Amino acid sequence: MNQGPVQGADAINHLIQELNKLPGIGPKSAQRIAYYLMRAPQEQAIQLAEAILSIKQKIKLCTTCFNVTDSDPCVICRNDRRDRSKVCVVEQPQDILAIEHTGVYKGLYHVLHGAISPTEGIGTNDVRIKELAVRLQDGVVKELILATNTNLEGEQTAMYLNQLLSPSGINITRLARGLPSARNWNMPMILPSPELSKEDSNSSFIRILNMPGGVYGRKKPFVPTNSG
Ligand SMILES: [Zn+2]
Repeated sequence: MNQGPVQGADAINHLIQELNKLPGIGPKSAQRIAYYLMRAPQEQAIQLAEAILSIKQKIKLCTTCFNVTDSDPCVICRNDRRDRSKVCVVEQPQDILAIEHTGVYKGLYHVLHGAISPTEGIGTNDVRIKELAVRLQDGVVKELILATNTNLEGEQTAMYLNQLLSPSGINITRLARGLPSARNWNMPMILPSPELSKEDSNSSFIRILNMPGGVYGRKKPFVPTNSG
């Protein structure tokens, strides 16, 4: 609700409310920061406000792959040396960093910005699935690699994408990932296959399960794990 200009105590309450919306900032921290800023030099408050504004003005989403970028299309999408016939689907922009870090994948990406989660009310329209379907229509992409997380939401999302997009004739594979590393449980770990020949290494850069006859070919209903 837009309350218009606020003054005095209203102004500080307004700032507390806004700070309280930030992750990891509870009501007490929000209050502490708000009163700190009230007493801080004017320049410090202005610098903070400008830093917040500039990430909103300069950082945007690539209109092709929805990665975060300061230029559109992003550096990966506009790189002529990337293989345009392959798209790796990930949940978050930081998943791209993990895959790029391995240096073995040379295709493009698509960031969903989440995963389907009926329990949290996140449906197919809340992630960038429609945009992916539109992107695949021109027939350039021949292979889709589903690299969503291996938790329930990631698996449900991969299964949904497989059902939705396999009639298009695109080769759909699921990224087989190793155990999460201790340093970050959210980062996918890519396992390069040493036995792959050089010609194979780009299309099967990791151990991949072919979906039609693979894990999703079987009837394997999801059993909710929450017991209460
Ligand atoms: Zn892009």
